[in-house]
Amino acid sequence: MSATIPASAPQRISLDEARAIVQTLTASRVRSIERIDVEAAAGRILAHPLRAPHALPTFANSAMDGYALRAADLPSTGERTLRLIGRQLAGKAPAPEVAPGTCVRITTGAPLPAGADTVVIQERVRREGDAVSVSAGIAAGANVRARGEDFAAGAEVLGAGRVLDPGALALLASFGVLEVSVHRRPRVAILTTGDELVPAAAMPGFGQLRDSNGPMLAALAAASGAQVVAVRHVGDDAQATEQSLRALAAMADVLLTSGGASVGDADLLPQLARQHGRVHFWKVRIKPGMPVLAAEIESALWFALPGNPVSTAATFLTLVRPALQQLGGREPSSMLYAELAHAVSKPHDRAEFLRGSLRCGADARLVFTAHARQGSAQLSGLVVANSLGLIPEDARELEAGSVIEILPLPALWS
Ligand code: AMP
Ligand code: MG
Repeated sequence: MSATIPASAPQRISLDEARAIVQTLTASRVRSIERIDVEAAAGRILAHPLRAPHALPTFANSAMDGYALRAADLPSTGERTLRLIGRQLAGKAPAPEVAPGTCVRITTGAPLPAGADTVVIQERVRREGDAVSVSAGIAAGANVRARGEDFAAGAEVLGAGRVLDPGALALLASFGVLEVSVHRRPRVAILTTGDELVPAAAMPGFGQLRDSNGPMLAALAAASGAQVVAVRHVGDDAQATEQSLRALAAMADVLLTSGGASVGDADLLPQLARQHGRVHFWKVRIKPGMPVLAAEIESALWFALPGNPVSTAATFLTLVRPALQQLGGREPSSMLYAELAHAVSKPHDRAEFLRGSLRCGADARLVFTAHARQGSAQLSGLVVANSLGLIPEDARELEAGSVIEILPLPALWS
């Protein structure tokens, strides 16, 4: 069976048009929110802004090990000797009030004793028994962490859409937050297609190869904030494929298929998408990855990605990852640009993704170098690359130094 082009859907659109359609499709979808324990919240996306329930730090404390004293007792010239009246250790009972002419030994993080407003580090004093001599040149208020200097009570400390990274989790703990509202992770189901594929555990027979897109897409989806609910495979059989599509669409928000999206004899997916779903576009003017299709089937968003591994990865990075981030409530990653290390020319009018390396030069400029291996079936090109460089469709020739968009691979994701 040869796939016919869906009549109503846009075809052979530009990458920008495809991105815009995906953005519209995802923006209109309902995102639900769940409350979870902070212990399970690493990497999740905060659903509502968080305001500081109290000031942080909650009390003025010392930034150094030293002596807490009154700024008024600091000498303007020479030296002044103060009487040591006690010590304040972190987490220990309060020291006596620092009266004029006295000081208290203090450790890092310990609360500033009443009366004191300055800490002199121990290296800057001379001590003999209870006599502590301080020399001139210390600033009033030195080495004190003021109450609320980190966050004022009521200030917005984390915005909605923020990834709960280690710093954010530290902040939640500091505020005694035990539960957070986060966006539910989009559920992703993966279906690889092709009669020639066998699972990684099997020994391929004549003309067969192991399914590498299943694990790759699962890893890409998980690293994009999704929950992978199924990874399955189906042969090139229309009925079996339709059944798999329906079963997976029922359990997922986003369905990713690999292979069978082009116009070959075994490419069943465009036809199935037209018959059983709503096609939003088929074929984007990109290389590799042109046959990519976006549709809705039942209530799931469906991306039919081409089967060549580099095409699968490139279409995932450009179209699926932003969709998953948006469905997961996350602000889209900021665009990344770099200078080409060399001239590039291409003989076609499609946007092209070059496998290559992004590096930061000594002059602090980001530079992208394309690798020699650019075959869309070559995993060697993918594993040595850290990013894809995007040559726009209208640029047939680009000089060295031209600025291009970079799509980082997961090793560069923050
Ligand atoms: P297709 O898009 O189905 O025509 O597949 C294009 C190429 O990608 C063929 O060489 C397939 O064997 C290969 N391919 C398709 N799916 C996978 C997969 N899951 N893992 C590895 N290679 C694949
Ligand atoms: Mg195939």
